[in-house]
Amino acid sequence: MSELTLLQGLVDSVHEKHKENQEGAVATYIPALAEADPDAFGIAITTIDNKTVTAGDVDSAFSIQSVSKPFVYGLALEEFGIEAVGRHVGSEPSGESFNSIELNPDTGLPFNPMINAGAISVVGMLYDALADKTGDRILRLFSELSGSDIRIDESIFESEMTTAARNRALAYLMQSTGFFNAPVEEKLASYVSQCSAMVTARELSIMAATLANIGTHPSSGNAVYSPLTVRQVLSMMFTCGMYDYAGRWALDVGLPAKSGVSGCLMAVVNRQIGIGIWSPRLDGYGNSVRAIAACRDLTEELGLHAFEFSNRGSSILSMYIK
Ligand code: GLU
Repeated sequence: MSELTLLQGLVDSVHEKHKENQEGAVATYIPALAEADPDAFGIAITTIDNKTVTAGDVDSAFSIQSVSKPFVYGLALEEFGIEAVGRHVGSEPSGESFNSIELNPDTGLPFNPMINAGAISVVGMLYDALADKTGDRILRLFSELSGSDIRIDESIFESEMTTAARNRALAYLMQSTGFFNAPVEEKLASYVSQCSAMVTARELSIMAATLANIGTHPSSGNAVYSPLTVRQVLSMMFTCGMYDYAGRWALDVGLPAKSGVSGCLMAVVNRQIGIGIWSPRLDGYGNSVRAIAACRDLTEELGLHAFEFSNRGSSILSMYIK
């Protein structure tokens, strides 16, 4: 039996185990998200040598929402460098909800790029450089990462724009402190647009596999991100990627991950696999109930936790101390 057949068996059994779980509720604060099929559930794993194993609804599209944040943050790091990006967004967990109307009192900046304020600030930097080409640049990035032609869903975009009071408040708050320039409305629209890009669980796992593969796309071989960018992005995901559940997630699962309010979850196993899971019912933190449960089981079965006892640590250090 090949290794992939074994992995397929595991993914099938994890999907089967959680399929009937109906806990949680679909997000409704963006009205269009309420239309998602609550029973949809797909799990996809893509290896860094471009093999994909799936179970369930892995080819149905959903809006990427906050899972766009690490990818766009990576793009800004590539375009402007760590130092310049660091003048627009910090790198500390906020301890507040993802859409909290608050900046770090010590720096006046958003706490990190995984919460809304940080992501709006980051896309604002791109807007300063690209203006009305920002949206196309981001879709080109998502298309390159997924290997598919990624588009936005206009009805989700419109739905979020008409209910974006909190994000609008955040954007104007940032403008008032000086590091976030006009045009505020256009920058807000760029953020909402990146969240409205439609992907599938299969595509998400391929996008995650580029991060697992230190920035090189598993099938095209294109270097989308530098290794340093990937290290920065994965570190942010590890500490801040799972809303107010990030600490517990680090303990229980121990993988860099990002979730989104459409019920998607992306996790990365360094140098091995990207994971994409979608199931729209959310828990109280805004994380997908079944995605969390499935990812926890996969981690347990495959020994994926970053601090798993079998993890041998730095191969460079081992040359010095063997
Ligand atoms: N577009 C959503 C918002 O800004 C993204 C939230 C999320 O997925 O965490 O509210």
